[in-house]
Amino acid sequence: MNTQETDKKIVVRFAPSPTGFLHVGSARTALFNYLFAKKMKGTLVLRIEDTDLERSEKHFEENIIEGLSWLGIEYDSFFRQSERKELYTRHIHSLIESGNAYISREQAKSGDGSEVEVVRFKNPNKVVTFTDAIRREISFDTTDLEDFVIAKSITEPLYHLAVVVDDFEMGITHVIRGEDGISNTPRQILIQEALGAPRPIYAHIPLILGPDRSKLSKRHGAEPITSLRDDGFLPEAVINHLAFLGWNPGDEREVMKSDEIIEAFELGGIQKGGAIWNKEKLLWYNSEHIRLLSSTSRYERALPFIPSELRNHKDYSEEKMKKVITVLSEREIKKFSDIPHLYSGKFFSYFFEAPEYSKKILTFKEQNSEHTVLHLERVSELLESVTTSRFNANSVKEALWGYATENGRGEVLWPLRVALTGKEKSPDPFTVAEIIGKQETLKRISHAIKIST
Ligand code: GLU
Repeated sequence: MNTQETDKKIVVRFAPSPTGFLHVGSARTALFNYLFAKKMKGTLVLRIEDTDLERSEKHFEENIIEGLSWLGIEYDSFFRQSERKELYTRHIHSLIESGNAYISREQAKSGDGSEVEVVRFKNPNKVVTFTDAIRREISFDTTDLEDFVIAKSITEPLYHLAVVVDDFEMGITHVIRGEDGISNTPRQILIQEALGAPRPIYAHIPLILGPDRSKLSKRHGAEPITSLRDDGFLPEAVINHLAFLGWNPGDEREVMKSDEIIEAFELGGIQKGGAIWNKEKLLWYNSEHIRLLSSTSRYERALPFIPSELRNHKDYSEEKMKKVITVLSEREIKKFSDIPHLYSGKFFSYFFEAPEYSKKILTFKEQNSEHTVLHLERVSELLESVTTSRFNANSVKEALWGYATENGRGEVLWPLRVALTGKEKSPDPFTVAEIIGKQETLKRISHAIKIST
């Protein structure tokens, strides 16, 4: 048997308390554990730390599980601390037996004069030093912690005890958690030593701040991860941004898919600071990831956001909407919830209905309406010759390019684009022509000629 340390199977855990939603901070902790487990071919435990029954709520647990599943953060095993009470009690007994803990009869906090029997840890009052994978060496004198309470009673373990027992029983090799966990580490190491448990490697990851370097708040990042899903963000974009909160691959890459992040991920690559959650940046990642999708999966994933009114439109088809979404993803769609807004603002209604516009905007710069009519007539003739079955952006462009180059691209293509879209700003006319089809294209050009003469 090979007993070398490096061959030991890596086991990490994500250990949220179900006292709040899965938000940016907890999701990033889960992600770093997941990335490390995947990279090292180890396993990830999801451990719901619900010993505090008063503050723990089922719907938070459900939200955490739902958020992880949406993000694609898979775990190999699942535990709830509330279901492991007997185990903790056994360890409390053994700590008492070994003289490392004792029952202390005390006045209850309620102040009503009643007495309770808490379990206190017998503090050896020493300096605890541990090496953090991110922060290097950290030392603490535990004397100030006094004989801290580890259980409210023999059957009611408190947080530190439960964490240590579980990390021990589950064979956790690396504890990757937020830097607010640093101050808990000395107590946990003392308990570990008393139990004869091995010390895991600690990696305390930097606190996440908002773009103005303030702590995350309701406005910035404190929302549940599931609300990003409901707002039409792609999980791969959220993963990408979360991964870059305190980590980067050490090269120029920014837009990365999960498997690339796993490949590049290293605990040693995490920095002590620089974890800034920025919704604008997330939007940027999101539009980049939308563009990475195939047109079919882009459509499928946008589907829940396409208004039913549009889906019931007589000129709606899956084929057509795929193209519309692809074109709009170049600039306008940054997240899928933009689709209903753009739709209700009639931003892309020209794909489905002939646009209304004032004759004035048809004419390019210093040209006059005679030029406009002349160009549109010629464009119409040229497009007549493109067969309906081959009427795509490329063949439309090919048919018009020579004429447009000779007579001025703006002069020729501006009126065409306005005739098709009714807008001064819109995607190129070749693409629009393909999407609305030959017949509709010619009809709109002829309408433009009519109103200009
Ligand atoms: N349950 C703790 C929390 O949600 C984290 C425990 C740990 O990672 O050690 O804050």
